Amino acid sequence: MPIPEVDKIWFNGELVPWQEAKVHVLTHALHYGSGVFEGIRCYPTDRGPAVFRLTDHLSRMERSAKLYYMEIPYTPEQLHQATFDVIKANDLPGCYIRPIVFRGYGEMGLYPLNSPVDVAIAAWPWGAYLGEEGIAHGIRAKVASIQSLDDTCLARAAKACGQYLNSILAKVEVTKAGYDEAIMLDDHGHVAEGSGENVFLVRDGKVTTPFPSDGVLEGITRDTVLRICGSEGIPAEERTLSRSDLYVADEAFFTGTAAEIVPIREIDDHPIGEPGPITRRIQERYRDIVEGRDEEFAAFAELVS
Ligand code: PMP
Repeated sequence: MPIPEVDKIWFNGELVPWQEAKVHVLTHALHYGSGVFEGIRCYPTDRGPAVFRLTDHLSRMERSAKLYYMEIPYTPEQLHQATFDVIKANDLPGCYIRPIVFRGYGEMGLYPLNSPVDVAIAAWPWGAYLGEEGIAHGIRAKVASIQSLDDTCLARAAKACGQYLNSILAKVEVTKAGYDEAIMLDDHGHVAEGSGENVFLVRDGKVTTPFPSDGVLEGITRDTVLRICGSEGIPAEERTLSRSDLYVADEAFFTGTAAEIVPIREIDDHPIGEPGPITRRIQERYRDIVEGRDEEFAAFAELVS
């Protein structure tokens, strides 16, 4: 689906018309993937649009940039305000927000530190990444043959542009095989994550998700779900998970900013079934939190100002 165009994009400190937010073909990041980015959502609430955990997303982007030797030429406060400015300039009540920090036009070659660091923040309306039907009834997942890259190959904790070639291979493989989303294993065969989501399993009333050291991005939705479990009194822990754990789960779901909380109803043709009670409870609580109706987590819904 083409990106729905809105008016303005914030680009290196200015709000520019959507069509003018362009880069040169010799931009370093275009050749080598030398950029880091975030995926953030803004939700309409009773008190106006609120960006979900914006501060935490911008902190992760700082960490991602650091892992690839990039100094962001704006403070977190400036990027915070710039995000609000983009939402206001485009009059968006709810939207997806994509900040990107990347090595720009200057030098070619693999030593990047002499290339400029450019920053852009775009926002546009984007519905459920894996579909409304998926949120309601669950999706079909397949373990991809391509494994997730570990920290010996790249800075796994970073959300970096080039790293997504790994996810792209997994996504194409399982889509061509007729499934909705991939589950990737790490180099030990342990469960890592989806192509753009973290993965959770439920067995005997207990929620589990792989450790960050098992080749996963430290998802902000993942963290939110662990906190929801704490608040709801649902036992939850980080654990190394095997492929077999996937097949015998009572419930399973993906978490991610774009995807939100998406039940998995089948993995590799092993049925898991319609979304179960724990998945449903977490979905409901998540919705209340992002839409600013939850007192305990009120600080996560950052009102646009
Ligand atoms: N893993 C990968 C590979 C992702 O791209 C994402 C989406 N950012 C996630 C997990 C989930 O992270 P978050 O909940 O912060 O969106």
